[in-house]
Amino acid sequence: MSLQERDKKHLWHPLTQHKIHPESLAISKAKKCVLTDENGNEYIDAIASWYTCMYGHCNDFITSRVSEQMKRLDQVVFSGFTHEPAIKLSEALMDILPQNQQKIFFSDNGSTSVEIGIKMALQYHFNRGEKRNTLIAFEDGFHGDTFGAMSVSGLSVYNGPFEEFFLDVKRIPVPNGDNLDAVLQQLETIIKENKVAGFVYEPLVQGAAAMKMHDPKGLDAILKFCKNNNIITVADEVMTGFGKTGKHFASLHMETKPDVMCLSKALTGGLLPMALTTCTQDIYDAFYSDDIGKGLFHGHTYSANPLACTAALASVELLQSEAIQNNIKRIMVSHEAFGNRVKNHPKVKATRQSGIIFALDLNIEMARYGNLRDTLFKFFMDHGVFLRPLGSTIYIQAPYVITDAELAKVYTVIEMALETV
Ligand SMILES: *Cc1c(COP(=O)(O)O)cnc(C)c1O
Repeated sequence: MSLQERDKKHLWHPLTQHKIHPESLAISKAKKCVLTDENGNEYIDAIASWYTCMYGHCNDFITSRVSEQMKRLDQVVFSGFTHEPAIKLSEALMDILPQNQQKIFFSDNGSTSVEIGIKMALQYHFNRGEKRNTLIAFEDGFHGDTFGAMSVSGLSVYNGPFEEFFLDVKRIPVPNGDNLDAVLQQLETIIKENKVAGFVYEPLVQGAAAMKMHDPKGLDAILKFCKNNNIITVADEVMTGFGKTGKHFASLHMETKPDVMCLSKALTGGLLPMALTTCTQDIYDAFYSDDIGKGLFHGHTYSANPLACTAALASVELLQSEAIQNNIKRIMVSHEAFGNRVKNHPKVKATRQSGIIFALDLNIEMARYGNLRDTLFKFFMDHGVFLRPLGSTIYIQAPYVITDAELAKVYTVIEMALETV
């Protein structure tokens, strides 16, 4: 029996309605930008397996560092103990994070890094004797699938059974270049009527909202407003972090830096699950006390797993290398040329780009998980490219090591799709 058949017996997949989508493609290996299925078919991974494997799958530099580490120290409790991989990683991150970030808290996936960011914001005020229980978030944001993260997310179509248990969240539109006065006015009203603890946002690019992009100047003004009102700003850079927007972090495009940052996905180059919540000295100091109850009593069994820390350190070194930085520039230029080529096509409504993130909206209405979207997905896979359209938006977020020939193939297959949809 094929893996695809055996899968169906016991496995329940994420974000899947199994009655409508019974088949899961079995991938047996991956190297650099290529996935190979159990029948030997190859696919270019043009979304870096949800934006994780940015240095290529099974990257030799990362895997050899981790296999060395594996023989020395595999796992140890991170409460009361520490280890070199975590320490080295923290030192390396200080070189690339916005300078106000000083402390690093570990967890193991993007959603929990956001939960921790939310707890930091709520407890920061609590520890200072202020009750603030409302959060602000952007409409259409996505921050993960645990309860706090779901609460601050705006895509609520599938949240029906849970909504009544959500945290108190007020939503504002993203700044689009024209609406800033209205957004700031709305913020004024929200803070008059509520006790606002924090603002959780994806800086510049909202991934799950189909790579929706917004205005850095407007975001900067919103962040300034929050600072002036002692609202803790929590930048969810789970997707945008580690070079995606052309800088190491999207937050580096704004003058005002966040108080808290959430990182995961490309952090370990896709090798192992890990996440970080980083914060300023000021946030940390609000928890630093003779009173044990003022500490951040949050922890995960695998917090700061030494193997994941080693993978992350190797990834950060790669990110800073000249080779990867040149690749990022090369992909940005290449996407720009592709955007210019297709933007006037009658089937294309709009194109946009931030760093190596490229998105194209089709001139056709499509349900997020509807038939037409499935047809498009199948078209790409049949032509050897793994692209995962979000409704009628096709986006590329390929590994930094994608070759020019592979990029050309991705573009060609998208252009072929424009002729057939
Ligand atoms: C993927 C993602 C998350 C959730 O991360 P998981 O590791 O899937 O829990 C949160 N925020 C953003 C912006 C993401 O892209």
